[in-house]
Amino acid sequence: MSFMNTIKVATEGACKARWSCAPPGERFRCAMCGHKLIPGDEYAVVYTNDMRGCWGNPIFCSACFEDDVQASRNKWAEKCTQWEQLQEKYWFFVRED
Ligand SMILES: [Zn+2]
Repeated sequence: MSFMNTIKVATEGACKARWSCAPPGERFRCAMCGHKLIPGDEYAVVYTNDMRGCWGNPIFCSACFEDDVQASRNKWAEKCTQWEQLQEKYWFFVRED
């Protein structure tokens, strides 16, 4: 897991890679603020696969990432809870039927 939970510098290759099964480069962005990463930006992949009710291993930009990794994980858990509540409230816009 050394790839995760530490700040890295985005390379051209990382910016053009497939993230989360999307077309190349499309999802190489911060899961917290939406910033689309470009070469030279700092980012971290935060391990969250062990957290119940959370979508796994989001990318954080350096502005959103906390050196205290657990704080980043907590921010992500809170965002996942907010998303669940939004889906319930705005069900009409997220339905898949
Ligand atoms: Zn961010």
